[in-house]
Order: sequence, then structure tokens, then C-alpha cells
Amino acid sequence: MNYPLTEEDRAVLDRGRLLVEELIPYEVEAEMNEGELPREVRARHRQRAHELGLAAMNMPRSLGGAGLSTFQQVLVSEQIGKVTNALGWVVDTPAGWLPKVASEYQLATWVVPTIRGERVECYAITEENAGSDVDAIEATARRDGGDYVLDGVKWHVTSANLADHAFFQAKLTTGSHAGSHAMFIVDLDAPGVRIIRTPAYTHTFAAHHPELAFEGVRVPAANLVGAEGDGMKFAYEWFRYERLMIAARCCGAAERLIDEASGFAAERRAFGKPISEYQAIQFMLADSLTELWAARLMTYRLAQSMDSGMDVKVEHVQCSMAKLFASEMANRVADRAVQIFGGRGYMRENVAERFYRELRVDRIWEGTSEIQRSIIARGLFKKGAGALL
Ligand SMILES: Cc1cc2nc3c(=O)[nH]c(=O)nc-3n(C[C@H](O)[C@H](O)[C@H](O)COP(=O)(O)OP(=O)(O)OC[C@H]3O[C@@H](n4cnc5c(N)ncnc54)[C@H](O)[C@@H]3O)c2cc1C
Repeated sequence: MNYPLTEEDRAVLDRGRLLVEELIPYEVEAEMNEGELPREVRARHRQRAHELGLAAMNMPRSLGGAGLSTFQQVLVSEQIGKVTNALGWVVDTPAGWLPKVASEYQLATWVVPTIRGERVECYAITEENAGSDVDAIEATARRDGGDYVLDGVKWHVTSANLADHAFFQAKLTTGSHAGSHAMFIVDLDAPGVRIIRTPAYTHTFAAHHPELAFEGVRVPAANLVGAEGDGMKFAYEWFRYERLMIAARCCGAAERLIDEASGFAAERRAFGKPISEYQAIQFMLADSLTELWAARLMTYRLAQSMDSGMDVKVEHVQCSMAKLFASEMANRVADRAVQIFGGRGYMRENVAERFYRELRVDRIWEGTSEIQRSIIARGLFKKGAGALL
């Protein structure tokens, strides 16, 4: 890597590399077992992430997190992105937006135990009729004495099978903020929470994405995060962070794919010579490398700007640009890698096949490519190109 890094950044990057080297050998086993690895193997991987100082990498040291800078988190996420089957998710990133708005009770009950790895969270925002258009959610929160009563059905709740609490976004039906959003922390063993079904998805991950029903779930007012009406603010903060980390993971995936495909191309012979000597193959790899460099530069530069403090509106647009470009780039690279591997690229034991499926969702979750383009265009018309670059 030629990008200028401080010694500390390089040490963090090396720790990410070490972890990834240990995870990659387990990919095929996970792929062939519905994403699952033996419990003791997964526990060892988690332990390793802790030992390497990568667990809860985005959370402040004062609360027990690794306290990495945004740029360092990008370096780690890029490494994690090289691994298929979400095995890299042992590097967890709990809700980074939460500590500054959480009450003492919420810090002690959910935030700190989650940082320690004793509790696991999930996000319940999307619904059948509200995905891109988050404001269309139909879930409700009604104040009743010292409690709120929550109702709604949430879709695609990632990791709900592994989690013990959810961030549940709903519209208030009572009080002076009626009609606006609020965010609640809900323990998943609370009466009224149930899994409706667990659909199968394109990738093979141990973390499922079930449909969850919240039926008359009663939570104390102490479970409200921040104030009534704050719900969307937290979602946006999370989106920005996740969009940047998706961009980083996509860069890592693309680098691995380019390495694997070029290694194969140098060995594989057809018509008497290695296929790497055919211009058709060379051009696919050359385009992939060039596009990866562009995506990486965008991602790194944005992360460093975020560390040094930037206008949040510019940050919002740049996170969309990085996610849009890097996710579309990685999908093109995966498609080319499958092509270079030929028939082998269609086998689930092949890394290109797995990434070809797994990277597809990066153009959908945390805002589709179309939604990223809308955000970018809105920013352009409001601020002009100069302010955004
Ligand atoms: C594997 C997976 C995991 C997920 N995990 C979670 C999770 O943990 N928690 C959670 O809350 N959600 C989660 N999601 C939901 C995800 O964020 C949504 O799927 C995503 O935001 C898109 O919403 P939608 O599926 O309802 O699509 P829609 O919003 O219905 O969009 C359908 C199509 O219309 C396009 N479209 C919509 N509006 C516009 C517009 N204004 N202009 C142009 N095109 C438009 C979209 O780009 C898309 O192509 C997950 C989704 C998946 C697939």
C-alpha cells in the first residue's frame, strides 16, 4: 500500500490483516453450513478480534471500546471486507451515535455490555411499506403513563437471531411530537416481540434477517433514546457511518478479487498460453484496479476529513458518493472476476462466486444506489459542485 500512513495507522492495518488471515480459511466451511461455524471456532475468532484491539473499534476507550479514528476504522473495515460469509463481523461496531445521547441507565444496561460483547443489538427500522422512504413507517409508539406501548412489523432485521435488543423506530401517536419519529431500545425477550418468519437471502450468513412483530410491547420511558422527535436524526448518523464502512469493505473485497483473479489468470492456460496474456483478460483486471484505486482514494480522503471535522451536510453527500461509487465498483469487479475464473467462478467454493452474490446487497442496504444519487443531486443543487468536492 502506497498511501501515506502514520506508524499507528499501519499497526492498526496490520492487526486487521492478521485477523483476516485467520478468518479466510473458514469461508468455505461457513458457505457449506448455512453460514455457521462451530461455536468454539466463532468464539475463538471473537476472542482474537478482542486481543487485536479491534472489537467495538468505533466506541470510545472511556467506555471500553477500541477508540480507533474513523480513518483507522476504514483501514480495518477494508481488511474485513476481504472475507466472505460475514466472518469479519466478529469486528463489531455497536451504535457509535448512542453514547453521546444515552442516559446513564442506557449506558449501563445496553451500551457498555454491548461494547464488552455481552449483549448484541439489531436495527428494526424498515417495514413492508417503508424502506427507502423511512418516513412512511407505520410502527407506532403511544405514551401510557410511565411507559410507551409499541406496535409494528419490521422487515430485514439483521442479526435479530443473534441479538438480545433492538433499536425500534416508530411514529409517536400521542403528545406534542405526535407524527414525528422516536427511537426505543427494546429487549427482544419482552412480551409481544416475536419472529414472524426468517426468509432465505442471497448470501450465506449466520446472521439472519427475520421479519419481527412488535405487538403491544410495553417499555418504560427510560427506553426512549434521546428525546421524542429525535428518531430520524439517529438514523441519519448511523447511515453516514455505515455508508463509509460499506465503501471501505467494498474496496477490500475488490482488492481480494483482483488478487485472486490475477493469480488464477497467470496460472490458467488456454490455447497454449496463460490467459493473463490475452488482452481481454488484462483489460478486465486493469479496469478493476483503476476503479479500485479511485474508490479507495475517495474513501480514505473522506475518512480523514471526518476525523479532522467537516460540515455535516458535505459529509452526508460525500458518504453517499463513496458508498455509491465503491459498491458499484465492487460489483463490477466481482462480475469480471467470475468471468475470469470461467466455470470455476460459478462454484460456491470459489471466492468470486461468493462475492458476486454477497456484494449485491451493498447497492441496496443503508440506502440504495438510487437513493444515494438523489442525496448527491440534492446536495449539488443546494450547495453547488465546488462545495462538495
Ligand atoms: C440483507 C438485508 C439486510 C437489511 N438489514 C436491515 C436492518 O438491519 N434494519 C433495517 O431497518 N433495514 C434493513 N434492511 C433494509 C434496507 O435498508 C432496505 O431494503 C433498503 O433501504 C431499500 O428499501 P426497500 O427494500 O423497501 O426498497 P424500496 O424502497 O421499495 O425500493 C425499491 C426500488 O425503488 C427504488 N426507489 C425508491 N425510491 C426511489 C426514488 N425516490 N427515486 C428513485 N428510485 C427509488 C429503489 O432504489 C429500489 O430500486 C436490510 C435489507 C437487506 C436486503
